[in-house]
Amino acid sequence: MSDHDISLEEARERYRIEREKRLRADANDQYHDLSGEFEEFDHDPYSPPIVREPVTEETQVVIVGGGFGGMLTGANLTKLGITDFKIIEKGGDFGGTWYWNRYPGCMCDVESYVYLPMLEETGFMPTMKYAYAPEIFEYCQLLGRHFDLYRGAMFQTEVSEMTWDDATQRWTTVTDRGDVLTSKYVVIAGGVLSKAKLPGIPGIEKFTGPKFHTSRWDYAQTGGGPYDHMEKLEDKVVGVIGTGATAVQVVPAVARSAKELFVFQRTPASVGVRNQGPTDAEWFKSLEPGWQKERIENFTMAVTGTQPEKNLVGDTWTQMLWVDTRNVPKDDEEAAFYEREDFEQMQALRDRVDEIIDDPDTAEKLKPWYGKFCKRPCFHDDYLPAFNRENVHLVDTDGKGVDQITETGVIVGGTEYPVDILVFASGFEVTTDYHHRLGFDPKGRGGVSMSESWAEGPHTLHGVLTHDFPNLMMISTVQGAFGTNFAHYLTETSKHVAELIQTCDAEGIATIEASTEAEEEWFNLLMTMVGGLAVYNASCTPGYLNGEQGEPSMKAARNSPYMGSMLNYARLLEAWRQEGSLAGAEVAKA
Ligand code: NDP
Repeated sequence: MSDHDISLEEARERYRIEREKRLRADANDQYHDLSGEFEEFDHDPYSPPIVREPVTEETQVVIVGGGFGGMLTGANLTKLGITDFKIIEKGGDFGGTWYWNRYPGCMCDVESYVYLPMLEETGFMPTMKYAYAPEIFEYCQLLGRHFDLYRGAMFQTEVSEMTWDDATQRWTTVTDRGDVLTSKYVVIAGGVLSKAKLPGIPGIEKFTGPKFHTSRWDYAQTGGGPYDHMEKLEDKVVGVIGTGATAVQVVPAVARSAKELFVFQRTPASVGVRNQGPTDAEWFKSLEPGWQKERIENFTMAVTGTQPEKNLVGDTWTQMLWVDTRNVPKDDEEAAFYEREDFEQMQALRDRVDEIIDDPDTAEKLKPWYGKFCKRPCFHDDYLPAFNRENVHLVDTDGKGVDQITETGVIVGGTEYPVDILVFASGFEVTTDYHHRLGFDPKGRGGVSMSESWAEGPHTLHGVLTHDFPNLMMISTVQGAFGTNFAHYLTETSKHVAELIQTCDAEGIATIEASTEAEEEWFNLLMTMVGGLAVYNASCTPGYLNGEQGEPSMKAARNSPYMGSMLNYARLLEAWRQEGSLAGAEVAKA
């Protein structure tokens, strides 16, 4: 019997087996962050050190993070006439994710016309339907110039302390360069997929050859560039650990350059059709004003459970996600429909593996046996075909992960695979404590730190304001929205934050923070939206979307994002602003 004939019951059993192989009691603790003995992995290989004197200054707004979230906050403030702000950024330029991720093949798998923010304002035409990382990075610089954001930028700078002073009603932000900034507002726009993690594989520190995380690609070791042949790999054996969305893009590029490539897999990715192609310039020119907002909303609708009348983007994301099989079914019939729908979509992806992969044994190992919302879906035209190449070898660990790393190679199932270069495509922290991901712990009213205030879990209004941290605004997934097109979320939330600052100034408000009652109401609303998630996750393999299947806890629940559609979240924020009473916020007038 081929997989094509597999029944739902058999798939259910296979999901259970694959999940159980992978469950680990240490959940998130299995990973290392890039500190202590792994600090060298955090080195910035891209920009020479910037030399400057420390700055001591008063400014109106300190924005932490120079990725799209921070940049869009700056752009929206600028549009409202507020230009007295600083943007503190760890990287050597704007870009955030797109500054750090320069690995070969790096691209955004969400359509560029809906992903790149403010295209109508900047007049920029992406060259491809799915933009490659260098173009997105250039676009970040263009946005920086367009909105004059470089003026207030402090690059290669990290916040070390952020403290509220009740007497002066000001924040003091101290950086690792000795800068001291005082400000009425702080906006934290970081910590989403910014803190890289390494797998806790025994011996990981022993490997003596070049080794790096994908978000710090070392072209000095590989030669070439994001688009180019990596000539220094021609005589090298490369090992890539991990097979998530990053590896799906890295593997085909490395396969083309390296003498040999070993891909170490714990759980196979689900990989759908990409259909990359160039932008039709005539079509782009013909778009009417307002087109981008319409297209963004149309895409978000299609990936959050409602198929729009006309699906404008029309790609595999929109075909795959328009039925949210995590919903609570209204009856047995609907439950059966959800399960079958999910199964059939995943079966189509498993069948795709058979269609593409020549060797049946390799094909078997590349099949994803889990539901479509267990792991982030991936889309690529060259990933699976890469495994048909003679120089590419899949080393499947049967769900166990790599056993050990030695000075010269990687051990799986008692066999050592010697490699010259080791690449960790092992992802980022997503569900660890917020202050840990930020790398600093803001101290609010009475000197109470966020880690103390949130010891039992986060408490916020809209994911933006939090009690006892006056005039601090957050743009993050912690109780904020989350979605396939993350730039949609950043666009809406940065606008919300900028307008909130403008309102406070216009109304003579000295401080604003969430009331504890409103925070509880917000949390209760979040809980009404988790729907059938717990039931759905119960059949999933572990991963960051389900907190690595760690023990359920109130703290984990309080870390949940808003699970409804981004469109509803945006409408809710807009209605809240328009209503005008700042309901649920505690304000004190100047
Ligand atoms: P992921 O967390 O998705 O993948 C990490 C990989 O490392 C997984 O395959 C994981 O296996 C594997 N791994 C972890 N520990 C071990 C171990 N001990 N032995 C072997 N393998 C191990 O990280 P990515 O960087 O791939 O992606 C992170 C996110 O970044 C994406 O989900 C997406 O949101 C974003 N992204 C977006 C892109 C875009 O185009 N828009 C492109 C790339 C990334 P296992 O699955 O078993 O845990």
